Amino acid sequence: MTFASMGKILNVDLSTGEIRPEAIPDGICRKYLTGTGLAAWLLHERIPAGADPLGPDNILGFVAGLLTATPSYFTGRWSAVGKSPLTGAWGDANCGGSLAPAIKRNGFDGIFFRGASGAPVYLYVKNGRAELRDASRLWGKDTVEAEGMLLAEHGAGARAAVIGPAGERLSLISGISNDRGRMAARSGLGAVMGSKRLKAVVLDGKLRVPVHDAAAMKRLSRSCNRWVQFQPPFLSGRAMAYLGALMRILPTQMALDGMLYKIFLRKWGTTSMNQMSVEMGDAPVMNWKGSSADWGMSRSASFNPDNIKAVETAKYHCYACPLGCGGICIPKPGGGETHKPEYETVLALGGQCMNADLDSIFHMNEMLNRAGMDSISAGGTVSFAMECWERGILTKADTDGLELTWGNSAAMAALLEKMIRREGIGDILADGVRKAAERIGRGSGQYAMHAGGQELPMHDGRNDPGFAVHYSVEPTPGRHTLGAQMYYEMFRLWKRVRRLPKPAPFYFKGSKYRADEEKAVAAAACSRYMALANGAGLCLFGLFLGASRIPVFEWLNAATGWNRTPEDYLAAGERIQTLKQAFNVKHGIDPRANRVCDRAAGIPAQKEGANARRAVAIAKMMSDYWRQFGWDPETGVPPVEDRRSGR
Ligand code: SF4
Repeated sequence: MTFASMGKILNVDLSTGEIRPEAIPDGICRKYLTGTGLAAWLLHERIPAGADPLGPDNILGFVAGLLTATPSYFTGRWSAVGKSPLTGAWGDANCGGSLAPAIKRNGFDGIFFRGASGAPVYLYVKNGRAELRDASRLWGKDTVEAEGMLLAEHGAGARAAVIGPAGERLSLISGISNDRGRMAARSGLGAVMGSKRLKAVVLDGKLRVPVHDAAAMKRLSRSCNRWVQFQPPFLSGRAMAYLGALMRILPTQMALDGMLYKIFLRKWGTTSMNQMSVEMGDAPVMNWKGSSADWGMSRSASFNPDNIKAVETAKYHCYACPLGCGGICIPKPGGGETHKPEYETVLALGGQCMNADLDSIFHMNEMLNRAGMDSISAGGTVSFAMECWERGILTKADTDGLELTWGNSAAMAALLEKMIRREGIGDILADGVRKAAERIGRGSGQYAMHAGGQELPMHDGRNDPGFAVHYSVEPTPGRHTLGAQMYYEMFRLWKRVRRLPKPAPFYFKGSKYRADEEKAVAAAACSRYMALANGAGLCLFGLFLGASRIPVFEWLNAATGWNRTPEDYLAAGERIQTLKQAFNVKHGIDPRANRVCDRAAGIPAQKEGANARRAVAIAKMMSDYWRQFGWDPETGVPPVEDRRSGR
């Protein structure tokens, strides 16, 4: 038994109705932690090769991290895991809110579903006692309605994860919602839940999570919180845009300190980057073919983060988070409450589609949250359709009369409604860009922006090649939360692990595109650290404080009673990463095929804007990354013995 772990998982077979707790074998937590590490071990072992992601053999898991519900901060993140129907590869999706501790307070590190129910059901667990219940009255309800009905029945102390109509209709870009619209959005795992006819998981637990040294953990947390609370009162939203423009113009760049980003996050949340990212070249524009020259400061002015802050009525904190980057907004006087849209949503439905209508972003964000559809993938799919329209590949005859011109926010909202309902053109688009391009044909595939089938997030690899690399090499492709060159700078891991390179404080931007050993080491370190973090249940934004300010390794040692070094923990991260890659190989994924699409790697390079003449040496950078893990540098396949154990 490991302190901080509950020592058990819950297995639910939806075909037979069997519910069976299972002890986690000795040594597994030490090797892989819990969270997505435990899940990688379990899913690799138990999902048969070639299983249909929407079939009964797929396993869908809800996992909390090793540090969740201990006296640590930033540890309220949970993950959904399973074989992704969107990519066919390892799938996970990370989410905050208040669900994560409810998993552990029921006595489990994870709850895993296999099989498929004949009729809609939900799982109700109270202090570890679990039962399947009829969910027919909930089927067809949106995520907010369904969650409200469940909490009305089971009490406000319960927590629920639910799917909406998108997951029920097996949209491959659907997610799983908790806390009224926070979304475990990526990898299409809402469709896996829908395929199992599992509408919801409701958790109401009060069990204690055992830790080795709670007093030491609290001391560490207090010291971390001092950094979080440091908040100089300066900066306007407009200044953020000018800061981005300055970063675009200068030939050099400063190694980022995440304390600066923390200040932005605390003030505005992720929307702090709405305009700045466009100006500096981080945010893709017009389905990745445009640039800051097309979507300049005047066009993006409505997304000034101060405009969003003006309608924010309350800060929103995930469980155990002292920062609180989220927000509750009332965008229209007398209107209803909604979650503040994240940067990813604003840009996916904004600059990517040339849409400057902020009201429409609030509206579409709420619509997608209620439907349970991933706003990154939905925005990417709409912008793909808009480019198809512009090029005459789609016409009014194909779009049920919608005019998909750039920036037509009314048409965008109507198109999303159709995607959610799988109606007409919406049915063609409801499974993301790769499937849509296959269905539409006519050369549309070249305008489908994805990696391995997953739509790309709002961070441009032509500005930070690390994003292009991680979109391509992560076992769950097309993800922005696992590594980038700027993340390596902010993680400051070299402060704790001597062999890791320290970036120069200032450097010429051109040096970012050089495929050298140092970049490969940094990229691999990001993946190891994030695999560890997702095993511990930590939030990426907490990690941006820097490894000398957030005591990840010390929290883990105090929680478990282990006495391990940062190197030991990064080795655990490597084992997890290798297991996930082995999962993909087992399921017939060729890691080379997950390479990000050419346009997003600057092939050919853009002619104007912040990323003009920038191309990423993507093939070489992928190969260099694989070599860091001891995998075949040509194919990305781990050696056979590592595939079994994660090494
Ligand atoms: S920083 Fe934001 S996303 Fe992370 S745990 Fe806190 S509120 Fe949640």
